[in-house]
Amino acid sequence: MSGLSIMCDQSATDTITTYVFDPRSLTHAQAMGDACAVCHVKWPRPRHPLGELPDGPEVYGCDECAGFVAAHTAQGRAHALAAH
Ligand SMILES: [Zn+2]
Repeated sequence: MSGLSIMCDQSATDTITTYVFDPRSLTHAQAMGDACAVCHVKWPRPRHPLGELPDGPEVYGCDECAGFVAAHTAQGRAHALAAH
């Protein structure tokens, strides 16, 4: 899988941008938090919340991808996540 679509949740009530992942773009392992939502790595187990699914569960990422996402979150940009 080479693409990852992420929608920016415009309904977020706080000032932190929450990414809402499209569950159709995630594997079962990614949706369950067993694999990094960006690069699919399963070990070490991803522990950094990257965003959430439309129905609430958090989606996790590995150290490397969490840093990548945080950097782009700070810039208010999400589209670069499709760089993989
Ligand atoms: Zn990763």
